[in-house]
Amino acid sequence: MMETTHSKLAEKFIADEPRTDWHDETLWLVREKRDKAAHGLPEWEQLREWGSQIKNHSLSNFSVYLKEFEEKATANGIQIHWAANAEEHNQIIHKIIEKHKIQKIVKSKSMLTEECHLNEYLEKKGVEVVDTDLGERIVQFRKEPPSHIVLPAIHLKKQDVSETFHQHLNTEKGNNDPQYLTEAARQHLRNKFIESDLSITGVNFAIAETGGFVICTNEGNADMGSHTAAVHIACMGFEKIIPKAAHLAVFLRLLARSATGQPITTYSSHFQKPRKGQEIHIVIVDNGRSRQLGREDFRNSLKCIRCAACFNTCPVYRRSGGHSYHTSTAGPIGSILNPNLDMKANADLPFASTLCGSCTNVCPVKINIHEQLWKWRQEIVKQGYVDTSKKISMKGMAFLFSHPLLYRFTGKMARWIMCTFPFMVNNKLNVWYKQREMPKAPKESFTDWYKNNKKNTK
Ligand code: SF4
Repeated sequence: MMETTHSKLAEKFIADEPRTDWHDETLWLVREKRDKAAHGLPEWEQLREWGSQIKNHSLSNFSVYLKEFEEKATANGIQIHWAANAEEHNQIIHKIIEKHKIQKIVKSKSMLTEECHLNEYLEKKGVEVVDTDLGERIVQFRKEPPSHIVLPAIHLKKQDVSETFHQHLNTEKGNNDPQYLTEAARQHLRNKFIESDLSITGVNFAIAETGGFVICTNEGNADMGSHTAAVHIACMGFEKIIPKAAHLAVFLRLLARSATGQPITTYSSHFQKPRKGQEIHIVIVDNGRSRQLGREDFRNSLKCIRCAACFNTCPVYRRSGGHSYHTSTAGPIGSILNPNLDMKANADLPFASTLCGSCTNVCPVKINIHEQLWKWRQEIVKQGYVDTSKKISMKGMAFLFSHPLLYRFTGKMARWIMCTFPFMVNNKLNVWYKQREMPKAPKESFTDWYKNNKKNTK
């Protein structure tokens, strides 16, 4: 049995009830903003359909578009590197750093570098990496992973941030004023930008037709880093490729609205070629993506544009927090991507869902998220990665459901016990009861009720 299952970690998170309520409500507010922005565009469903079709087309033609991208980018003076896995990705980046004898690096938000554990790798080699996205910097100070792909510190309150900044930036103790705290972060990061010689960023979209790429941020930190540093390394999973520049219009409109309800991300920066004296490198990473592409039921999870709309709407994510998913990408899409990377270690994740389908409804590129979660459950059971207690109880239920007489008898006994000795069910050993009121047991089963009522209507 896994030591850090989603349910165990969620138990830790929900122990703080006010924080859980606040986390739930805050993310629901983001979901509502997304709804308002989406409903404000009459062509929203058409955009989703286009987004989905462009991505479907790219999925079937990755090799063509990646090759085209490499040719065009190289012709523009960008250096392309290919990494089969996380280890290779980290090694390539370290080699570039070593070649330039660089010690200080700024990095903007990139979930791929989280997936590859780049910070830990570089820190072990004696390189200082400073995350420049405000939320990422906060969690970096606290030595925590991000809990959300768009809002990395959403699990923290301003009081937590104030205490963290007091410890690391020497701000006034107890001063929780967001403007004061943001200004302190701004001054701190400004120096880091100036001192740094190398900037690492992610890539939101790579365009095969032009060899250029686009990075979307709300803080402009990717631009600050790459404009001041002599070397810019952009890291991209190969699924970020899109065929044409014209397709950007679809995705930029979908991304910002789905993520935060904004009509456009504050900075959607286009990179085409290095300026004079600068180097741009792009590391294109597989790390299990081609395996996922080969899994028929899960391949279209590679369409994801990392907007996090599925996180914000998910009743399980909102009330269990991102750290309960124990992986770099949490939420419903993380529960589909991570079992592909390590099925045994992440076998619990597809079960962290009510399968209500809300994730599928909001996904801007129409990924059938809840159906894939359900499919993963079947695959994980087939591969024998569910824990023994679940296996035994499921076998027991299957036996019960396939023997009607036994089922009716058990139901009768259970109703009698619940009515006569309610404490046998309503006690602290019953995990279901811990969080809920148990309903009063009915006197008869639905089958009996139906039979009696059917008779009465004759
Ligand atoms: S799966 Fe869809 S909703 Fe979830 S992050 Fe990806 S694009 Fe957004």
